[in-house]
Amino acid sequence: MLSCARYERPRTLKEALMLRAEAPEGARLVAGATDLLPWAREGRAGDVELPMLIDLTAVEELSGHQRQGGRVRLGANVVWQEFLEDPALSRLLPVMPLCAVWFADDQIRQQATLAGNLVNASPAADGTPPVLALNGEIELCRLADGQVMRRTLPVADFVTGPGRTRLARDEIVSAVLVDAAEGYGASFQKVGLRRSLVISVACVAALVRLDAAGTRIEDVRVALGGVGPVPLRLGDVEERLMGERVTPELIEAAAAPTAGRVASRSRVEYRRRLVPGLVRAALEEAVERARVEKAAGQREAANA
Ligand SMILES: Cc1cc2nc3c(=O)[nH]c(=O)nc-3n(C[C@H](O)[C@H](O)[C@H](O)COP(=O)(O)OP(=O)(O)OC[C@H]3O[C@@H](n4cnc5c(N)ncnc54)[C@H](O)[C@@H]3O)c2cc1C
Repeated sequence: MLSCARYERPRTLKEALMLRAEAPEGARLVAGATDLLPWAREGRAGDVELPMLIDLTAVEELSGHQRQGGRVRLGANVVWQEFLEDPALSRLLPVMPLCAVWFADDQIRQQATLAGNLVNASPAADGTPPVLALNGEIELCRLADGQVMRRTLPVADFVTGPGRTRLARDEIVSAVLVDAAEGYGASFQKVGLRRSLVISVACVAALVRLDAAGTRIEDVRVALGGVGPVPLRLGDVEERLMGERVTPELIEAAAAPTAGRVASRSRVEYRRRLVPGLVRAALEEAVERARVEKAAGQREAANA
């Protein structure tokens, strides 16, 4: 069971940071609580009595999203359901709804935040591979001389191991910053050991943009999760594909070596057999969707 000696629900980021700065050892931040509650309830941490719980859900500055040039700023309180329900967000970040649809269930998605998923830093987190593929950064803030100070880190550097990140004791995640990816074809592939509420054994996020003729790969991003201590961007696969004419043989050849990226300590052989097929399926689907995007763009241009 989870209980706390002091519960605070600040309304502003500054108030939240002041509470964070004065919080006693063992105090926790909470957003959707979909990781925090099972951590206490399932006895992984035993009965937990926290000295202080700082609930961030009423902090207005942490909600919503904005486009900023070629980037999108997702407030730390953006929940997974928003990627399914907001058409503007789906257009900007086509891989996110494809990931969200496999993420937990309707109820959890209404509460669970992308930021909480990144901070929890589970090797099986579904949110990290799409964010890596979108060149994601995490914005962290803290108070210094009464002022809100911000720093940003690539998500690839922020997550350092299972359950470990570079979040400092006095910091709060204020946003996740990602590339806008309209016009890309996307895919999210996930395999787990049961059909519902599946924890990933492995998952892959892919994004592909094709050239004007719709035959060559102009840009490609691929990231893999669930197969080692931290999710990975597959730069070698991307290099193999960049600028090339798309063929089934090319995709097969690019995906085949990814078995070697498995660094898990459990189900190693299963994962090695699984991963190349998952990467291939993600690339094939992303290419197919990129073709559809390209054709739609050309139709729009012809009708303008
Ligand atoms: C039934 C069920 C199904 C699930 N299915 C999936 C799934 O399919 N895929 C998957 O990846 N995960 C899944 N999860 C895990 C969970 O839902 C996600 O990790 C979720 O995104 C966490 O977000 P949250 O807002 O609930 O985080 P919380 O539980 O509130 O917090 C998680 C961690 O992040 C910290 N934190 C939260 N917000 C901030 C902030 N702004 N700044 C700094 N620290 C912060 C907290 O202190 C805590 O350490 C599932 C969970 C449940 C209960």
